[in-house]
Amino acid sequence: MRKRLSKDEYVAGVLEGNRMILSRAITLIESQLDTDKALAREVLETLLPHTGNSVRLGITGVPGVGKSTFIETFGKHLTTQGKKIAVLAIDPSSQISKGSILGDKTRMEELSRDPLAYIRPSPAGISLGGVTHKTRETMLLCEAAGFEVIIIETVGVGQSETFVHGMVDFFLLLMLAGAGDELQGIKKGIMEMADLVAITKADSGNELQARQAKVSYENALHLFPASGSGWYPKVLTCSAMTQMGIDDIWKTILSHRELLQQNGYFFNNRKQQNLAWMHDFIKQTLEERFYQNPQIQQELSSVESAVTEGQKLPIKAALELLRLFEKSIYS
Ligand code: GDP
Repeated sequence: MRKRLSKDEYVAGVLEGNRMILSRAITLIESQLDTDKALAREVLETLLPHTGNSVRLGITGVPGVGKSTFIETFGKHLTTQGKKIAVLAIDPSSQISKGSILGDKTRMEELSRDPLAYIRPSPAGISLGGVTHKTRETMLLCEAAGFEVIIIETVGVGQSETFVHGMVDFFLLLMLAGAGDELQGIKKGIMEMADLVAITKADSGNELQARQAKVSYENALHLFPASGSGWYPKVLTCSAMTQMGIDDIWKTILSHRELLQQNGYFFNNRKQQNLAWMHDFIKQTLEERFYQNPQIQQELSSVESAVTEGQKLPIKAALELLRLFEKSIYS
């Protein structure tokens, strides 16, 4: 068995940018053991003053749109400039399959061998809320380890995008030309969250179609109300194959950052995100404690059958259980 590391060893290792210790610290964060959780909290708390300095970037798009190819090209573009980048994934499928698809290293083969890049698969087997919480903590660890750009990748089909939007500074939506939004399975709400829509695969004779799609997305984005940050979402075309447009995307991210840092929205957004994180954690912990409470576990199935049999109003049943829970924690 590996020697257990102390808090100081974790902290020093992460601050040195030691990847082996960073990986172990992330594993500690993902652990469900109470002793590990307590140590993880201490490590994070000590590292907190060293966090917050990265460009936090969310990337989404339906499977097949070209996310991993884009991240590989975009990531190499940044590491060539000497930037350290980390790629994390929020992968709803890993909760079902108990294995990670998104964070799979073989998907970004070249980038995963790059000494300036760090790719971490999504933790499997815990709830989406749990993964979100752990991804936030992992992001802080990566910042303390000196990563300058943190990419959080997710499949653009469900709730995970809202979670990602709640933890990044900039939200990039990848789309394809020649298919309507509905065909691409992208929900309107996701379009609304985008700071930049990039029409990818604009190569191999697909360039004109991509430019046409750019115009129609620009028109669609105009219909959304302004975000209040002073930033108007942009649409660009790019190709992860030829690298066309990749640098423009990076420059757009930087100009968004500059504008929002100047008008104060950037820091305000991060403050609000921290508050939301706290509230999410409260809700999640309350729910876990409720369902893990021995008295609730004892009573739950009989109350459930009373509800399904129509003998009890669902709200009344819920209130009874909540009262039982409150009593058990205050007694
Ligand atoms: P993901 O599921 O969103 O991660 O998509 P992938 O990155 O795995 O890409 C899906 C397919 O699209 C693969 O066969 C890629 O080779 C191809 N692809 C990705 N980006 C580009 C691009 O910029 N141009 C072209 N022509 N093909 C691309």
